[in-house]
Amino acid sequence: MANVKLLDESTITKIAAGEVVERPASVVKELVENSIDAGARRIEIEIQNGGKALIRVTDDGIGMSREDAALSVKRHATSKLSTVADLQRISTLGFRGEALPTIATVSKFTLQTRRAEDELGTKITINGGKSQEVHEVGCKVGTTVLVEELFFNTPARLKFLKSTPTEANKIHDFIVKLALSRPQVAFRFINGNRTALATPGNGSLLDTLSAIYGTELTDSILTLKHDDDNLKLAGYVTKPNILKSYRGWQTFIINGRVVENRTISKAVDEAYKSLIPKTGFPLAVVIINLPQSSIDVNVHPQKIELKFDDEGRIFKAVYHAVRQAIEGKDDTIGHDLTEVAAAPETPHFEQLDLSKDFDEPPTPKKSSERKKKPKDDFDIEETLAKVAEPKEVPKPQPKVEPPKKSFELEPIGQVARCYIVAQGGNDLYIVDQHAAHERILFDRLNNYAERIPAQGLLIHRVMKFDSRETELIEKNLNVFAQLGFTLEPSGADEFRLIEVPLDASDTDAENLLRGIISEIFDGLNEADDIAKRIRQATLATTACKAAIKAGQELNFRQMEILLNELSTTAHPHTCPHGRPTIIKFTADDLAKMFKRT
Ligand code: ADP
Ligand code: MG
Repeated sequence: MANVKLLDESTITKIAAGEVVERPASVVKELVENSIDAGARRIEIEIQNGGKALIRVTDDGIGMSREDAALSVKRHATSKLSTVADLQRISTLGFRGEALPTIATVSKFTLQTRRAEDELGTKITINGGKSQEVHEVGCKVGTTVLVEELFFNTPARLKFLKSTPTEANKIHDFIVKLALSRPQVAFRFINGNRTALATPGNGSLLDTLSAIYGTELTDSILTLKHDDDNLKLAGYVTKPNILKSYRGWQTFIINGRVVENRTISKAVDEAYKSLIPKTGFPLAVVIINLPQSSIDVNVHPQKIELKFDDEGRIFKAVYHAVRQAIEGKDDTIGHDLTEVAAAPETPHFEQLDLSKDFDEPPTPKKSSERKKKPKDDFDIEETLAKVAEPKEVPKPQPKVEPPKKSFELEPIGQVARCYIVAQGGNDLYIVDQHAAHERILFDRLNNYAERIPAQGLLIHRVMKFDSRETELIEKNLNVFAQLGFTLEPSGADEFRLIEVPLDASDTDAENLLRGIISEIFDGLNEADDIAKRIRQATLATTACKAAIKAGQELNFRQMEILLNELSTTAHPHTCPHGRPTIIKFTADDLAKMFKRT
């Protein structure tokens, strides 16, 4: 018979380490959260080799006394919780008292810390959980934790780590989220001797966002706002013209805690999808503050899980806020949300899954891992039906079968920044990128049953027309409005252009409208159905102006999306002006050209 043995303490800790500390990003998460809990105003994170060689986190927080420092590296030592009852009112980010000792078990670990009232600080070094040394040292107020050679004594874990850039990206993505959750803290992230990120820590979420993503991006940002009783929602999303192919750009913060949450991401997705066929994910920062009583906190040995009592309410709040922002109904664009973004008193959270690669599309969880449904079985489709109020917002498109593809093309490359060379079966295809995109946009616009979604212009354009044009516009203001162009008379032969179709929101609006008008008049005769003609001219011109131009470089992903969307249009082979979009050479054609027959 085999001997049943008790595992020794160090083995237990190592096993536990696998759950708390999975990769360098989880170390960074634990350390930075400790710094935030310690009231830091500046936090500096340095990594070498994607955190595999070195992770250093330095803060200017309250520091620790010599006794506390020694205790902090012992298991289940925490200053943040003493009884289970306390779990119900946790206001700090960490409270399990496990992070420091577990990290110290699987690395070469140094902690250096000093409180303002102490003359000297304390330095503790631990090597793979062993040979603990405690020294007095002179150092600045605050705490530095240095983690070198993570997993050096657990080769299995080490092997599991990804390449340096991948690990570094995971850390980067997570610091971005933490920085967005604490605009009042200045973050600096140094990746291999290069400052990769620095936020001002001036309390402004908009400034933090600009520091992270650049001012060009914050120029195309829309403000989210929703205030419903005790649920306060704020945040930002990008306009639909700036989408990413992965979700890494989305940060959700509930009561000050960065979380991942299906309900929120689904609501953002659905709000976009209801207005434009979705080809990616917008940047989104969604901040929600609500009473702790409406959140279920589930205590597991290793983690805390967050569920909303009323998932439907959260979904609706996010969905409405995002739609309102996209439709430009809100005039708060560009306002800073600092006050809503300020860290609240009661954070709660869901365990972040740092093992997930943001670059990969989200994969559905295995049923065994799937979390239990919240109490009142929440059905997103149903909620969506309820929240789509026809007067306020254009109805989501009626449910249609997944679009039929008329062909399946794989991109090979781009030629002359104008043509996509592709393969389908044994045939060779050359696709005109502009004409193809024009067709896609035209069909998209044409498919809107009611009104084409429009976006308000920040600066209204006052345009002068001749009397013939004025007559046409005046008589057909409704037709134009349905097509996404809202115009208001503003003097003799003058109109104010207020809204343009969403898809064309970053084109030169004035030129676009002039192009449409001239196309309407081009070859016009008495017998024409004028409303139909306006519609045709508007859709074709808008699609043309909003489509990607020849000369624009496309990456593989963009080519894939373009070909894929083209294959689902009703008339993929010609652009709305009747020019060809695709030229095809069959294997036979090629054989003939090479005189093989
Ligand atoms: P937890 O954060 O769950 O309490 P940790 O192992 O992460 O557990 O930390 C243990 C204790 O060490 C904390 O409760 C805190 O008192 C102290 N501590 C850790 N990091 C810092 C820091 N950067 N500044 C001040 N105190 C810290
Ligand atoms: Mg902690």
